[in-house]
Amino acid sequence: YNKRVLNFGAGPAKLPLEVSLTDLFFEFFVLRIIRKPQTLRNFFDNVLKMLIIIYLFYFRYVPDNYKILLMQGGGTGAFASVALNLMGRSGKADYLVTGIWSGKASKEAAKFGKVNLVAPKSTKPGTAPHPSTWKLDPEASYFYYCHNETVDGITIQNIRQTGNVPIVCDMSSSLMTQRVDISKYGIIFGGTQKNLGPSGVTIVIVREDLMGNPLPCCPTILDYGHVSDMNSIHNTPTTFSVYVMEKVLQWVKKNGGVEEMERRAIAKSQLLYNTIHNSNKFYSSPVDEEIRSRINIPFRVGGPNGDEKLEKLFLQGAEKLEMYQLKGHRLVGGMRASLYNAVTYEEVELLVNYMNAFQKQHS
Ligand code: PMP
Repeated sequence: YNKRVLNFGAGPAKLPLEVSLTDLFFEFFVLRIIRKPQTLRNFFDNVLKMLIIIYLFYFRYVPDNYKILLMQGGGTGAFASVALNLMGRSGKADYLVTGIWSGKASKEAAKFGKVNLVAPKSTKPGTAPHPSTWKLDPEASYFYYCHNETVDGITIQNIRQTGNVPIVCDMSSSLMTQRVDISKYGIIFGGTQKNLGPSGVTIVIVREDLMGNPLPCCPTILDYGHVSDMNSIHNTPTTFSVYVMEKVLQWVKKNGGVEEMERRAIAKSQLLYNTIHNSNKFYSSPVDEEIRSRINIPFRVGGPNGDEKLEKLFLQGAEKLEMYQLKGHRLVGGMRASLYNAVTYEEVELLVNYMNAFQKQHS
């Protein structure tokens, strides 16, 4: 593995360098599965142990009346499972749409009930409707929002009180990057592929009273109450992904836990935003300052609307230095640097050094 290859992709993301996949592969497939043939059952037991490790890891943040489920289907599957499990409460739900992913979630939910957008979709990119303008329905089955819009580079850090309406939050790209007061939420979900390992596992943290009342059409595999009763092994689990996730969790723990991940996310994103800010508008962020993501950072090169020729050169130069996946999402354009937990401060320093050198050469 070449340590110099830097991956700023939006996901699936890199693993921490210390989580060595070759060793894992060897240990998992050769030592455990082949040399001890009856190990499949043992492995199931291991999955349960891992669940306990995760419980312990989150211990300070997960109150007793919550369950953590390991499911499949990714964040996209959760767009459906959330509605299938909760929409029966009143048949309608409130959605805050701040970008691509919450937009997709609202469309999926509309198949299972009435979706009310709490604010008109913002027509200006990089902005989000102010909480004071949200029209919340006190009878909604739940209030849904996305904590970190991976494509748009928008984070919603503050939400309004919703009374008895449970809050559902998509944390696909921000899970384990900052502390969370879980007791404020009804459901938090996210896939593992950004900050917790390879793709394949969907973590669903759910308040107990929200389980056990799914819509009649809810498939068993998406029924939170049932999955909880089965200790997350309703069908063949994504064993290898869970296995690697456990290693990544151990890495997080060894590196100071979620507090340290949060400190690093703030330091890394500040370094990049400061570089953008100090570039005399050569680089620019398309997102309003108070809602800028710490994790997925879109930026333009060569002025606020971007200079496509320069942006192409920027990407070519980056790849020469083995910095990959800096091209922005096609719907936003420009660049995007994703600074997940496995991306180190030193790697972001290399990126900003390159940005400074590129600016010197082209302005
Ligand atoms: N929500 C967010 C915020 C995401 O970033 C993504 C994936 N990039 C999804 C949902 C969809 O997740 P998945 O690919 O696991 O279905």
